[in-house]
Amino acid sequence: MKRAGLLTLFICFLVLTTFPARADIDQPNNITGWKAGVARVVITPKEAIWMAGYAVRTRPAEGTLHDLWAKALVMEDESGKQAVLITTDLLGFPKNVSDHIRDRLKEKFGLSRAQIILNSSHTHSGPVLQSALSDIYPLNAEQLAQIARYSTTLENQIVALVGDALGRLEPVSLHAQNGVTRFQVNRRNNNESILPRLTELKGPNDYAVPVIKVLNAKGALKAVAFGYSCHPTVLDSYKWSGDYAGFAQLELEKAHPGVTALFFQSAGGDQNPLPRRSVPLAHQYGRELAAAVERVLDETMRPLPARLATAYSEVELALAKPPTEASLQAVANGDVVYLKRWANRMLDQFHRGEPFAKSYPYPVQVWQLGDQPIIGLGGEVVIEYAIKLKQLFGPDTFIAGYSNDVMGYIPSATILREGGYEGETSQMVYGLPGVWASTIETTILYEVTKLARQVGLPSP
Ligand SMILES: [Zn+2]
Repeated sequence: MKRAGLLTLFICFLVLTTFPARADIDQPNNITGWKAGVARVVITPKEAIWMAGYAVRTRPAEGTLHDLWAKALVMEDESGKQAVLITTDLLGFPKNVSDHIRDRLKEKFGLSRAQIILNSSHTHSGPVLQSALSDIYPLNAEQLAQIARYSTTLENQIVALVGDALGRLEPVSLHAQNGVTRFQVNRRNNNESILPRLTELKGPNDYAVPVIKVLNAKGALKAVAFGYSCHPTVLDSYKWSGDYAGFAQLELEKAHPGVTALFFQSAGGDQNPLPRRSVPLAHQYGRELAAAVERVLDETMRPLPARLATAYSEVELALAKPPTEASLQAVANGDVVYLKRWANRMLDQFHRGEPFAKSYPYPVQVWQLGDQPIIGLGGEVVIEYAIKLKQLFGPDTFIAGYSNDVMGYIPSATILREGGYEGETSQMVYGLPGVWASTIETTILYEVTKLARQVGLPSP
């Protein structure tokens, strides 16, 4: 009897190991070959420092609506190649802060620029960073020192954050799909002040909500990264918050305890959340975006094969003719305070005999995450780039604008021709000497195409 019992046990063991339970066979996670690690850190300033994004604010921050976060999702394919998506509730990384962070990530973890997407949500309720939009804020020496201290702390926090995520790698499966939500409004082609009376809104728009789902080996949700193209400018108060994007992340994390939700800004350069200017509206748009993500999570998503290819370059984006002394003097004599600051700074440079920059090293990046193309672009990318890149590389392409360096607006050829804020005057807000040259769009699209070939994307 005892022997028979042992034999039965042995057969049971054989059956169990040879034919795993049905539930196990259903888990695609056992065979994907991906690993992922996720980490998060609060980056809400401890000091009451100046808030980023609006020239009209007259005093520093006065409290917190909800915390600001930096989050990292490290992904590793079956060959051991890694990439990290870093998302932040910040207006944008100026080049020097981003370069410091990425240099240190290279030094410490061997991650190249191609392997890092450093995205900012573009919340207008976050802190000013060092060397950012220097002319638009009326900052004194003490406030500048606070900003420098915060920027150094932030750099340290983000380097440590990536280290934490790398230390938590575990087997996962990755899945991707686009969702949709429609609260973005093209702010160039629709008049905000008469919006309640409008019965038709003008485009162009791209309402996509790109979603990347990370499941652990048991098939449970571990992290979700999602994007949208829209300025986080619902709020303009003196309280720290991630605006609608912060609310969207909070909604998802509340609905899925223990899960990290990461928001990346897409191509919202000319898109506003309208109507706006109240906390309930920011909360509403956050819930709308979270609902769009939930719908995608509930449906079948495309599983991504465990191979990763990354490419990065900095292409020289030409600037148009520099301003003349007379034109700068005219602006300096005008009455727009931040433009006067810009013109005087430019005049100082002119009188020191330093030539104005003729171009800017613009970051372009392409990832193939399995068979999911992700295009990372610097600056405040306008919606036509998302539309055109999807025409070139397919409607499932994900765009992460506001990545790696936010040096100014990135207008399409059309918007550059039309002028206005995104095409012309915002260049001064960002401290650039003049507008972009008319080659901007073709230069960027050509560079993306070149990098896309490097990562094995089918040629358009
Ligand atoms: Zn902006």
